[in-house]
Order: sequence, then C-alpha cells, then structure tokens
Amino acid sequence: MGIESREAWLRQIREGKSFLLISHINPDGDTVGSVLGLRLALLSMGKTVTIVCDGDIPRNMSMLTGYDLYLKPDEVNAVYDTAIAVDISSKDMMGASLPLFEAAQVKMVLDHHATNQAYGEINWIRRGEAACCQLVYDAIMELGVTITPEMANCVLLGLSTDTGHFEYASTSSLTMHTAAELVDAGGDLPRITKLMYRSQPMRRIQMTKIAYRKMHFECDGQIGVIELTRDDFTSTGCTFGEVDGLVNLALEIEGVRFAYLASERENGIKISLRAAEPDVVNDVALHFGGGGHAQAAGCTIYEPLETASAMVLEMLREKAK
Ligand code: 5GP
Ligand code: MN
Repeated sequence: MGIESREAWLRQIREGKSFLLISHINPDGDTVGSVLGLRLALLSMGKTVTIVCDGDIPRNMSMLTGYDLYLKPDEVNAVYDTAIAVDISSKDMMGASLPLFEAAQVKMVLDHHATNQAYGEINWIRRGEAACCQLVYDAIMELGVTITPEMANCVLLGLSTDTGHFEYASTSSLTMHTAAELVDAGGDLPRITKLMYRSQPMRRIQMTKIAYRKMHFECDGQIGVIELTRDDFTSTGCTFGEVDGLVNLALEIEGVRFAYLASERENGIKISLRAAEPDVVNDVALHFGGGGHAQAAGCTIYEPLETASAMVLEMLREKAK
C-alpha cells in the first residue's frame, strides 16, 4: 500500500512527462469523463497522454473530446513515467490494463470509492465523494489550468452520471456549485441530459420491458430482484453497458430497501447492488470479491445465474431482517 496524499499526487502531475490514464472495465460516465477531462488538462500543461480501457466506451458519450482516442490494452506498447487508475475501486477493475499500470514507473490512483484500499504508490482518494470527476475538477483548479468548454463537458458528464443526474444522496452543495461552475465554463447540460437519459436505444427499452416483467420481490417487498439471462441480451441486442442503471427500476419502488440486478455475462454473473439510505450494500459486494460505494456496489460471482442470485439474496435477507 502506498501513500495517500493529494499534495504528492499533484506534485507528480506537475513533474511527470508521459501519462497513461486508465478507465475501468464496464466503463461508465464517471471513469470516462474523468479520464477525458484529465487528459485535456494534462495536454494543456504540455504532457504526453495516452488513454486506455479494457472495454468499449458507450456510444452516448461520443460528444466528449477524446472519446475516439481510447486504446485497447494490447494496443499500448510504450512505458509511461506515470500511470493513473481513474475511478477504479480495486486493481481487478482494470481488467487487461493492469499490467500496463504495473509497468509504469510511478503508479497513481485517483478515486472516490469507499472500498478503495490505496493500491497505488501515490493515491488521492476522497472516499464518499459524489464522483471522481469532482476530484478532476479540483485538480484542474489547483493546477491553474484554464478550463475549456471541452473539459467542462467531460467533468460535467461524469458528475451527472455518478449522482443519478444530481439525485442521489451523494449529491452535495459542492456538487451543485461545481456543476454551476462547469456550466459557466461552457458545459452543455441540456445536451448531456439528452444524450445520457433522454434518447435511449430501442433495444434498451426492450430490455427495460423484460426487466419489469422479470422483477420480483422478497422479504415483504424490501428486496427487489432482476435477473437477466444471456438470452435476454441476445434477443434484445443490448450490450452489457446498456443495462447500466436498470437496477434502479427496482430500487425506486416504495418499500424497497435493497435491489440487485444479476446479469449473465460470458464469464460469470455480474451483480449490481443498490440500497436506499441508510442501508448499505458494499459489504455484500466486498464479501464476493467486489466493491463500490455504500449504496451502489458490484461484484462478479462465478456460478450459474440461479446459484449466484440465491447467494446474494441470502445475504440481503439477513440485512432486511
Ligand atoms: P454498477 O452496479 O453500476 O456496475 O457499479 C456500482 C459501483 O460499484 C461502481 O462504482 C463500480 O465501480 C463498483 N463496482 C461494480 N462492480 C465491481 C466489482 O466487481 N469490483 C469492484 N471493486 N467494484 C465494483
Ligand atoms: Mn465513479
């Protein structure tokens, strides 16, 4: 375990020359917005920057500058003086990018997950912060970088998606002030809203119908469950990234304290866990080798769908007692 120091992290940003920025597998708006925003800030400081992700970046984020510059891990062949794992709660969430992180001379972490164990050499982690993009914004300000509309859009998109468009309990006064400053800097909130929440592909609507049909409740309606099979993905054509957030359909029902979405992937069952405050679910995710935030966490269980789902349900039943 390395040091946790915002100052040391910022010093290395000033002193480093070539940077590799890493987004996590199953990339979401926060890891993408943070990497792309930080990339633009580093470029404006005259640094060399490469961005990498083991996974496809969702198409609805293509408005962000640098979207099409992500490399796949096997396309990266240089060694960088600094690698930064961005919005990545644990090393395994880097997927095939992990060896690139390990190969860098200086390994840094920028994150906001409660379960992050500071696996880098220099870590800047603000546990419980609404989004990693908030830290990117703070870094931009601290480094004296002039924020451009392109940077503002990246940071604003991540701030929006990780707060459920400024709805989750993690949304603070700081979040709202930052969002206002990003709009002042040229961030286009209506466009982000339209692309991220108000123009869903038809296949996601088909999947939403399936999710509602399959949704069931346990423990007197305190636990909401959605199970999606490989067939559901094949029949709708939905990518795994496109079911992001469907778990919330179960959580937003009156009386539901815990919800999870179990989806059958090529290797293992991805579990997306949610809780309504004051309940927490990251203990359950950690138990199965995953992690995340108090009220939004995840893990992968290498069992058949039914078994994996039953294992999660059993733990949640205990909590709902
Ligand atoms: P989601 O359910 O939306 O995929 O993930 C919710 C949160 O939990 C995200 O912040 C994500 O980074 C984290 N998370 C999801 N799956 C895993 C996992 O397998 N391992 C770890 N460490 N974190 C995860
Ligand atoms: Mn995040």
